[in-house]
Amino acid sequence: MGDVGAAIRGTAIPCGQCGASLELEAGVRFLKCRFCGTSLEVKESASAVYTEVKELREELKEIAESLGDAKREQEKERARKKKKAARQKRDRELEAFDRAWNAKREGFLVRDKNGGSHEPTKGMAFALWGVGAFGLVGGLMFAQNWPPEHRAKASLIPVFFAVATFVMGIFQYRSSAEFEIAKRRYQRERERLRESLE
Ligand SMILES: [Zn+2]
Repeated sequence: MGDVGAAIRGTAIPCGQCGASLELEAGVRFLKCRFCGTSLEVKESASAVYTEVKELREELKEIAESLGDAKREQEKERARKKKKAARQKRDRELEAFDRAWNAKREGFLVRDKNGGSHEPTKGMAFALWGVGAFGLVGGLMFAQNWPPEHRAKASLIPVFFAVATFVMGIFQYRSSAEFEIAKRRYQRERERLRESLE
């Protein structure tokens, strides 16, 4: 097949089926008759350009191709939807998991005087023990200034203070240790959940 109609571009050729005059555009090999609807193939001989009813094989091939395209497009669309649904499901599950953790975390938070709250830390326990020890030593030294018969009673105050801060420190330490374990477990399980939903 040469350059079909290069010389007769824009000229009319007859429909191979009904004979109606059809305009031939350059480079067009297949066309449909505007009048009878027949699919035509442009043919060229040494002396003329004409149309022939397109072979059924060609037409079927074209139909099969367009059906294949549609099916592939449909499958792609289905895969996209499936992926989107999976992503939404994963997000929902992760959100639920995070909500559960936040509720649990709330129970561990330490409230401060300003209405704020923060995660418990072991450092806070050490600080309490430090304050208790400092208060005990300072208080006992101060008690030495009291008359001998009151010294024992005066010493009780820093001892009580030290015991109280020591116990508070223990609670603080235990709470922060439990919180650390719970937080690590949450992070580990979240990662596992995320991977399982990929
Ligand atoms: Zn025709």
